[in-house]
Amino acid sequence: MNEQGRPTRLEGAMPTPSEVRTFSGHRGLDHDEPLLFESGRPGHCGVDLPAPSLSHDRLGGLAREGAIGLPGLSEPEIVRHFVRLSQKNYAIDTGLFPLGSCTMKHNPRLNEKLARLAGFADIHPLQPQKTIQGALALIEELARWLMVMTGMPAVAMSPKAGAHGELCGLMAIKAAIAARGEKRTRILVPESAHGTNPATAAAIGFSVDAIPATPRGRVDVAALKAKLGPDVAGVMVTNPNTCGLFEDEILAIADAIHGAGGYFYCDGANFNAIVGRVRPGDLGIDAMHINLHKTFSTPHGGGGPGAGPVVLSEALAPFAPLPHIVHDANGLRLVEHEADAREEGLNPFGRMVAFHGQMGMFVRALAYMMSHGADGLRQVADDAVLNANYILSSLKDVMSAPFGDTGPCMHEALFDDTYLKDTGVSTLDVAKALIDEGYHPMTVYFPLVVHGAMLIEPTETESKESLDRFIAVMRGLAGEAKAGRTARFTGAPYFAPRARLDETRAARQPVLRWTPPKPAEAAE
Ligand SMILES: *Cc1c(COP(=O)(O)O)cnc(C)c1O
Repeated sequence: MNEQGRPTRLEGAMPTPSEVRTFSGHRGLDHDEPLLFESGRPGHCGVDLPAPSLSHDRLGGLAREGAIGLPGLSEPEIVRHFVRLSQKNYAIDTGLFPLGSCTMKHNPRLNEKLARLAGFADIHPLQPQKTIQGALALIEELARWLMVMTGMPAVAMSPKAGAHGELCGLMAIKAAIAARGEKRTRILVPESAHGTNPATAAAIGFSVDAIPATPRGRVDVAALKAKLGPDVAGVMVTNPNTCGLFEDEILAIADAIHGAGGYFYCDGANFNAIVGRVRPGDLGIDAMHINLHKTFSTPHGGGGPGAGPVVLSEALAPFAPLPHIVHDANGLRLVEHEADAREEGLNPFGRMVAFHGQMGMFVRALAYMMSHGADGLRQVADDAVLNANYILSSLKDVMSAPFGDTGPCMHEALFDDTYLKDTGVSTLDVAKALIDEGYHPMTVYFPLVVHGAMLIEPTETESKESLDRFIAVMRGLAGEAKAGRTARFTGAPYFAPRARLDETRAARQPVLRWTPPKPAEAAE
């Protein structure tokens, strides 16, 4: 409603959008979008090309004989299709994105501007190295910031995501164990771990042994110690952990694993909660990945690739993958070959990527660090923790926070579904109802250590006003569920073009290829 003129929204008289069936199938300006293959017509083309005048082809009999089967569409039809699809994206640029563990924070536009500078964006990895000295200097400077912030002596820059960083860290551990002439096959992983932790360990042939959580939501150190033995290669601990809690016995964990001859891998996906406050190198950690796309705000999800550099302790540094950067008489140089690395006394386990890593993300991450400065980065962690605690304390009287009485949380607030008991409403229903309220749902059913988990990570980039609006919605939904008004949940989302997808069937029997309808069906 505007303040002076006529009302911009009719009160009362309008049916709700879910009651209106439109002739077009569209909902207002939100179009029901068919596949290009469904809307295309054979023979149409967006461009007007002359027939090729070559009298013979040079394809040696490999020329296509049948029609290629591309959908026939005009240029405006294609443009509209992709623009409409892009408008269906919910993004951090459209609203609060409370996905716990994912750290969906604002991507500063300054970073985007710097990443587009021609000297970074338009160079090619196969250019002579003397022509890309600036780019190499940027990688080196970013590496230096990462080592200073973590208090670690080395960093492998090339891994392209958190999970890829885990692979890098565990391969370094495997190489270090092999270099000692030992055979260790077991990795200890807490029950609350992100799925990538056990998956990574299993992918390179370790067996995974789960460690239970204590009633305080931390690693059960006694249970961990009981599982140690000469076959244990290492432990993977997330700190702060996926319940949003600091592992306060981390020094004891480090001592125990080192005492048993294993290595300490830390999942650093939640570094955004402690950056500038805690140096992982002081905690006895041997390897930790840093998700630049979480802590240092580079775009992720649909918005961009990840980057997962791995900081390494003295013990693991020699095994870091190629390439790495050195200074020599001609300036900066990438060391690409194992023989060259051996001359430096190193023993790389191999290489993980074709070139050097995600250059565009390196530029954005360093821009973020330098524009915040050391004091600003500490403020990032402080504000992320403050915002999460504001959510926790504003919701824990109407929802149920399993560890809400063990003290403040770190960067994310964890709830379970106890408050929904006997209401007929599930965690999934609450997530779907949030879509109708204009929010991307929080992370649900993770971590696995609590029942019906809802994990909310506001990040430091939300204002108090934005958090207050979200809190009001969550309180409203909790009240409706407890009052037995469940219709808004069970069919939600009502206002989205698609409602409840059969996600299990989509995962188990994915239809990856469009096939033309059979003529009989088409005639119906
Ligand atoms: C995001 C995340 C990962 C995986 O990182 P990707 O960059 O998505 O591969 C691993 N562990 C935790 C705790 C995470 O939050």
